[in-house]
Amino acid sequence: PKQADENLRSPICCIMGHVDAGKTKLLDFVRGTNVQEGEAGFITQQIGATYFPAENIRERTKELKADAKLKVPGLLVIDTPGHESFTNLRSRGSGLCDIAILVVDIMEGLKPQTIESLNLLKMRNTEFIIALNKVDRLYGWKTCRNAPIVKAMKQQSKDVQNLFNTRLTQIVTQFMEQGVNTELYYKNREMGETFSIVPTSAISGEGIPDLLLLLVQWTQKTMVEKLTFSNVVQCTVLEVKVIEGHGTTIDVVLVNGVIHEGDQIGPIVTTIRALLTPHPMKELRVKGTYLHHREIKAAQGIKIAAQGLEHAIAGTGLYVVGSDDDLEDVKEATMEDMKSVLNRIDKSGEGVYVQASTLGALEAMLEFLKSSDVKIPISGIGIGPVHKKDVMKASVMLEKKKEYAAILAFDVKVTQEARELADELGVKIFIADIIYHLFDQFKAYIDNLKE
Ligand code: GDP
Ligand code: MG
Repeated sequence: PKQADENLRSPICCIMGHVDAGKTKLLDFVRGTNVQEGEAGFITQQIGATYFPAENIRERTKELKADAKLKVPGLLVIDTPGHESFTNLRSRGSGLCDIAILVVDIMEGLKPQTIESLNLLKMRNTEFIIALNKVDRLYGWKTCRNAPIVKAMKQQSKDVQNLFNTRLTQIVTQFMEQGVNTELYYKNREMGETFSIVPTSAISGEGIPDLLLLLVQWTQKTMVEKLTFSNVVQCTVLEVKVIEGHGTTIDVVLVNGVIHEGDQIGPIVTTIRALLTPHPMKELRVKGTYLHHREIKAAQGIKIAAQGLEHAIAGTGLYVVGSDDDLEDVKEATMEDMKSVLNRIDKSGEGVYVQASTLGALEAMLEFLKSSDVKIPISGIGIGPVHKKDVMKASVMLEKKKEYAAILAFDVKVTQEARELADELGVKIFIADIIYHLFDQFKAYIDNLKE
């Protein structure tokens, strides 16, 4: 069948919900990968983007509807972290989305971050579909691998069906309390007014075909205008990070337009040296081999390598020089973002030094350290590996407040010279890839000093 005939770009779908609802696992199941088990502490700490080509979606949904018309080239899915201090990252992800999947654990119902996600979606008027996940955990559930949900449901005993209906009713009520009408998707006659629920399992795949097909069909049916491909580049920086062999790179979501190798980009005026993507169905966040491209058409998650990207700021727009004339506006927006990070640094000049792998991770770290039950002051920040210069900066505290002569290094390497200098000067370096662990280590150290 002829496809992509209306020149539509791929819809961008954001996956949201409470921590442990199964957001990453759902994506893993569709990709056939295992990102979730590779994550530190199994918590998603950054945003990832995965592209699902239409052929793949067709393959996964053929049992549900063999002749479904897929007009979009694919689906770009963004996974966001669920932990509390990641509000900032979550709002960044959801701001880009055409549609969202709100994942709810059927055994747990609505939780604080489900409600927070819901509020973000309402605030932005973003369409969403609810994945009522972990149906396989209903006592007595009979596995029907990859089956459409109605078919899977028919295989279940009366007891399991009753159990399911009880929990569904409870959750529909919880949504109602939030002012949101919901209904099982195949019974929903008022889509757009009433939000659809798709029961899923990220372990055995029941309901996954339904979720994929609903996402594609709903977006291509109701968002034609928004999804019509345009030549005007619309691009947002998700993450700034150092990658071995590429220097500082940025992970971006290209929402619309085409971007080329050699294009001049801003607000940091530089030339694209390499345009990289992961292989289809693999995630941008996972280290692996990248595909090189001459040009890329939206929508896509891209890693860009260029000079000077260490000054790029996550959450800000990226533009192609020559195709955009509101240069000053972009610069202004960029400054606003940076200010919000710098504002979190203690004015007293007393505090620890915080180093993280990405700006997003740094923002999350700062938010956590500032929270009421932690309250660790911060005197300086850095992104990327810990170098001698960072140790030098942290060592200033030796004179002012000795216990703060410390670097909290989140998900970064420490160079040999930096380590040697730290030992020599008496600067403590704490390293971890989970924010909580850094906090625990630092707290133990402070408590120890007090004794
Ligand atoms: P996230 O924090 O929302 O990304 O959640 P994860 O994807 O990391 O999943 C949290 C935990 O729930 C992991 O131990 C998963 O293996 C488990 N899990 C996720 N989805 C399912 C599901 O559909 N069924 C069952 N039984 N477990 C699941
Ligand atoms: Mg996750």
